[in-house]
Amino acid sequence: APVQPDQPTHLMATYGRQAISFVRGRGAYLYTADDTEYLDALTGIAVCGLGHAHPVIAAAIAEQAATLVHTSNLFEIPWQTAAAQKLAEVSGMEEIFFSNSGAEANEGAIKIARKFGSLQGIALPKIIVAEQSFHGRTLATLSATGNKKVQEGFAPLVDGFIRVPFGDVEAIQEAAINHPDIVAILIEPIQGEGGVNTAPQGFSYLEEVRALCNQHNWLMMLDEIQTGNGRTGQYFAYQHTNIVPDVMTTAKGLGNGFPVGALMTQGKAVGILGAGSHGSTYGGTVLGSRVVYTVLDTLKKEQAVTNAATVGTYIVEQLRAQLAGYNVQVRGFGMMIGIQLPKDCAELVAIARDQYKLIINVTAGSVVRLLPPLNMTPDQADELLKRLVPAIQNFLNA
Ligand code: PLP
Repeated sequence: APVQPDQPTHLMATYGRQAISFVRGRGAYLYTADDTEYLDALTGIAVCGLGHAHPVIAAAIAEQAATLVHTSNLFEIPWQTAAAQKLAEVSGMEEIFFSNSGAEANEGAIKIARKFGSLQGIALPKIIVAEQSFHGRTLATLSATGNKKVQEGFAPLVDGFIRVPFGDVEAIQEAAINHPDIVAILIEPIQGEGGVNTAPQGFSYLEEVRALCNQHNWLMMLDEIQTGNGRTGQYFAYQHTNIVPDVMTTAKGLGNGFPVGALMTQGKAVGILGAGSHGSTYGGTVLGSRVVYTVLDTLKKEQAVTNAATVGTYIVEQLRAQLAGYNVQVRGFGMMIGIQLPKDCAELVAIARDQYKLIINVTAGSVVRLLPPLNMTPDQADELLKRLVPAIQNFLNA
């Protein structure tokens, strides 16, 4: 890229960046300009599920870019219709609205909940959200987020959220008694940014929430922005259960790096957002829609979701065995794996990168988060373990 050396940066200082940049990628690997190879167990934060520079996705992008990129939602977009059909098939949802990011998809979900309340004559509808959740950086989504650091300095926050501990059904029942204006609950099936947190009772938490939503006529809304598109070894994490949410959002893996998101409804949430009530210039462009279609088609053809389940289970089992005696807790499903360490471990990111040529992430202070490509091979998984396990052992022994 044409960057002048020694010039001041004009980028807003919103990110704490690592002093490394990658110029190309291939599958599970990233390369710097001097061609040093790194094994990528982060995939752009749960985005490139099919790996980097996947030839089928690259070809679809190139061909569509040279044909037609954007016409607007004033016109029929056959690729958007086709992408929605494919997404409906794998998600079990009925209606789909395409957005450009996860936060935007969640904004849409919050609008649906409010409209659902308004249609019942509820003037100030409320949405139950969880502690340690992450839903995005826009005003409504940061207000829904259960992390004070994300909210700090941005008062007044968007009103209408009631917070409960993640996994605590009694707290939801109590909220129902205290707040007659609740219309929905919005949760992540597994909290990603919060530390790869599964509920104490596992996925049966989702079934308990579903039952409460039915009892109180609330919308059950799942944020599957990180857990979706095969990440946990099912297309959507709720598919580990027997229930279906009313509203679901996704993004990240849906475009394998191309910025897209989706807001989805089924059952009683269908039709709540009608003509003129929502929109986005870029939502579901011809190019973006073709990417979504191709990603979903490729996930299926390459059986990447099944691979994520089997190879992910193998990685979890190996981590548990190889780190036995190190006071760590390994949790997660498929290719969404968290290793809870007994102490803060932010330094591990640089140690793994520089000493082991492995790209990982640390979240919630003390959780090593692994988000490898869904199509990682068993050999690459062994390579990952060979690099990560000694990095953690040495760090904890020091
Ligand atoms: N919701 C969840 C669960 C997420 O993990 C994220 C991103 O990390 C978001 C929402 C926000 O998505 P985006 O960054 O695309 O706006």
